[in-house]
Amino acid sequence: MDKTVAIIGAGVGGMAAGIRLAAQGWQVQIFERNAQVGGKLNLVEQDGWRFDTGPSLLTMPDVARDLFAAAGASLDDVLDLVPLDPICRYVYPDGIIFDAVADTEQMQAAISEFSERDADNFPKFLDYGRRVFDITAEPFLFSELGDFGTVGGALLRRLNRPLDLARVMAPISLHTLVSRYFRDPHMRQIFDRYATYNGSSPYRAPAVYAIIPYVEYSYGAWYPRGGMYRLAEALAGLLDKVGAQVHTDTPVRAITCSDKGATGVELVSGEIVPADVVISNVDIATTYRYLIPPDFRPRAVVERLARLEPSLSGFVLLLGTDCRYAHLLHHNIYFSDNYQQEFYDIFTRLVAPRDPTIYVCATSRTDPTQAPSGGENLFVLVNAPYLTPEFSWAAERDGYRDLVLDKLERMGLAGLREHIVYEQVITPEDLATRYGAQHGAIYGFSSNSLFAPFTRPQNRARDLPGLYFVGGSVHPGGGLPLVMLSGKIVAELVARDTMAV
Ligand SMILES: Cc1cc2nc3c(=O)[nH]c(=O)nc-3n(C[C@H](O)[C@H](O)[C@H](O)COP(=O)(O)OP(=O)(O)OC[C@H]3O[C@@H](n4cnc5c(N)ncnc54)[C@H](O)[C@@H]3O)c2cc1C
Repeated sequence: MDKTVAIIGAGVGGMAAGIRLAAQGWQVQIFERNAQVGGKLNLVEQDGWRFDTGPSLLTMPDVARDLFAAAGASLDDVLDLVPLDPICRYVYPDGIIFDAVADTEQMQAAISEFSERDADNFPKFLDYGRRVFDITAEPFLFSELGDFGTVGGALLRRLNRPLDLARVMAPISLHTLVSRYFRDPHMRQIFDRYATYNGSSPYRAPAVYAIIPYVEYSYGAWYPRGGMYRLAEALAGLLDKVGAQVHTDTPVRAITCSDKGATGVELVSGEIVPADVVISNVDIATTYRYLIPPDFRPRAVVERLARLEPSLSGFVLLLGTDCRYAHLLHHNIYFSDNYQQEFYDIFTRLVAPRDPTIYVCATSRTDPTQAPSGGENLFVLVNAPYLTPEFSWAAERDGYRDLVLDKLERMGLAGLREHIVYEQVITPEDLATRYGAQHGAIYGFSSNSLFAPFTRPQNRARDLPGLYFVGGSVHPGGGLPLVMLSGKIVAELVARDTMAV
């Protein structure tokens, strides 16, 4: 086959689409403006510390396995996936510490220490998530997003009982659902937190996201030994294997277009690369605003994208310490005292919360190769509002870093400041400039309304034949498994559309 495709961006979604198309015989070229592949799945290495600067948790590993299989390879030959158990340690302001364990019966026993009723309800809550997953996964997560009517029709055909419809479209928030199953405030906060896995607020994201804890408990929480970035390296290896060309340090200036549709890309160097198909892995809002030439940029689409609410952003500290914190697990959460206020600050006031929930990932607890002997590599992440002109990280950065360190020192990491040997701060502004993420959003758009999960931007440009979108800002959403699925959906669309020509 001599069909050509130009992919803008070597994020996980762009690489996934490239692997699948090259494996089908397409001539694939990927243009990445950064020096390394992976996009937000990124890495910082310094003096023996290794930090994954984006994703720290891999879920639904079978999605990655399926991608490797499409290239005639086996993920388990290349990556050593370590199951994490306990999954996460939760530390509360009242001094309570709770380890969420992977085995559901053991988890139930742990919950019973807080509330027998909540412990009884834990399997029922997971079962709710399972039923929603069984109904929605095939027509929705694993498939192209049609218009709203098509998705609705596909869902309706899978609904066997009125109760199923009530579950999928329950007009309540995840928090309201969680509160029905759990009375203990500690347990509520744990299960509310799953809304942040797609960058949303538990008080506004719909109950359908009960599928996230179900997926975590059914398919596990995983860490690729050697660090999350091993996944990016493995995907780059697959691209090489299937004959795709990857050009790093090669920013794209524009998508070239004619009256017939997208015709290729223009690099910042001035070179024009013609292609039969163009796939943008860049945030779709950024793609429309900056990469599609003004004459081919429908105002209605730009305005619709501007109206969609961006997802959470993140404030990150990378801390290399010269001491070990034996009480840290691989994943740790230091909760805020008032979760509702925290999300009100983030999504309504659009300011960084004064009492944030702080996530600390210490891969050195599982994998000593990630820090010098006697040290830890702490990846510290705080949920932050998406960027607005009213909140300046240039002004807030240092003070916020101190606020986060104060809280960590207070809640268990004693003397942390004295033990920091390496430090880097990453703000939402850095996420915007490094990866082209609109408003610094980590997951594209939030899912803070009942219909949001079913109405994300589609993977094919309606107005510009030959242009497709892949990655966290489009269907089926953000997070590693979903962006890999978007690569699969786009590859299927491209194959189908070009066969029809
Ligand atoms: C702090 C943080 C924590 C996260 N935690 C998790 C987690 O634990 N688990 C999880 O599953 N997910 C997590 N995520 C989300 C996950 O990283 C993303 O959903 C996913 O990596 C996005 O992939 P993507 O395909 O959308 O591409 P992106 O990562 O958005 O990559 C887009 C690429 O396009 C390139 N690009 C932009 N403009 C141009 C241009 N003009 N020319 C050429 N190239 C261009 C960029 O440089 C970039 O490489 C996290 C993200 C962050 C930032």
